[in-house]
Amino acid sequence: MKQNLEQISSSLRGLFSYDEIVLGVNHRCNLNCEFCYIDYDNSFETNEMSMQDYRNLLMQARDLGVRTYILAEREPFMTPSRTFNVINLIRQVYSSEKSQDAEIFLVSNGILADENLQEAARQGVFLDTLAFSLDGFDKTHRNLRRIPYDIKGDIAEKILQTAKKYKEYGIIKRLGMNSVLTNKNYQEIPKLIEHAHKNYPFDMFSIDVFNENPKKRNGHLKTNKKQFQEFLKETSDISRKKDIKTELIILGNRQMRPYLQWARDFGFLRGESKIDANLFYVDDTQEPFRIYYHLFPTEYVRSVRVGSDGFVMGIGREIMKGDYRKHSIGNVKEKPLKELWDEVRAKSVPLTVEEFYF
Ligand code: SF4
Repeated sequence: MKQNLEQISSSLRGLFSYDEIVLGVNHRCNLNCEFCYIDYDNSFETNEMSMQDYRNLLMQARDLGVRTYILAEREPFMTPSRTFNVINLIRQVYSSEKSQDAEIFLVSNGILADENLQEAARQGVFLDTLAFSLDGFDKTHRNLRRIPYDIKGDIAEKILQTAKKYKEYGIIKRLGMNSVLTNKNYQEIPKLIEHAHKNYPFDMFSIDVFNENPKKRNGHLKTNKKQFQEFLKETSDISRKKDIKTELIILGNRQMRPYLQWARDFGFLRGESKIDANLFYVDDTQEPFRIYYHLFPTEYVRSVRVGSDGFVMGIGREIMKGDYRKHSIGNVKEKPLKELWDEVRAKSVPLTVEEFYF
């Protein structure tokens, strides 16, 4: 079996293209959300990449065929100039090619987005998708995200209005909302989606369904089967009735597999559909290379993470135990991107094959 596994893995490895980089711009965040996976005892001051380091990386990535960049680590508006410079640099590197432009996604908690709107417009920033995190109406969102008390007013409505302005200013093509499902907001999220869709120009909604984070022991927030099914029913009804694109992203370990099945029972399919459900799970029982996303045999090996300090990983550093750099394959400041990415694949493809075909 081991020999078969090796053979299948090595023949599959060559088939994968290099599609997507989840690219860090900083290691800072202004919030301390109850469910956040970032280990605060482990928030290293790191040696962030210079713009020249980013340029080198982007040129290598472009030549490998990468077309998608997801700027999601950690809060991009904590360092607005740096974030805008990285976005404009991506556009610049790709405009020198005859090939199609890059797709850039940015995910933000939205708190600092409004005060940086004019500057983003002035600098000619353009995003394909901007997704704001919102987990409920004012009170619920404040509680789950532990929004500081000095931020006054209806925070959810403020974020929705900021999102609308970004679209009106032409800074973004598509507007998305990301929510984290917990037992505190499972009844509220479908109503929030309906409200945002009716009153604001949102194009898509994405909901993270998470398992307990062992580092934080926040399992008290996890929805049980009954709550999850109630949420599924309402969300699929609203999405179908109002023709809303809604995606579930189920995160965690093997225990989360039933959640995918329940989602399918309510019509959330895997793949391109109006209502989707995708499962990403990690096996964190073995260190260090047993930790990779396992679900899509072909999807996740097309994607790699590069932190703002240049460390390359198969998955987000936030779910790794201890010093994330120990789990990294290496640093793009020292080694070519292709070499590092191929090493991620060399480790992850056999695991995926083993998981799905044996
Ligand atoms: S979940 Fe996002 S916004 Fe909240 S603390 Fe973590 S990185 Fe910051």
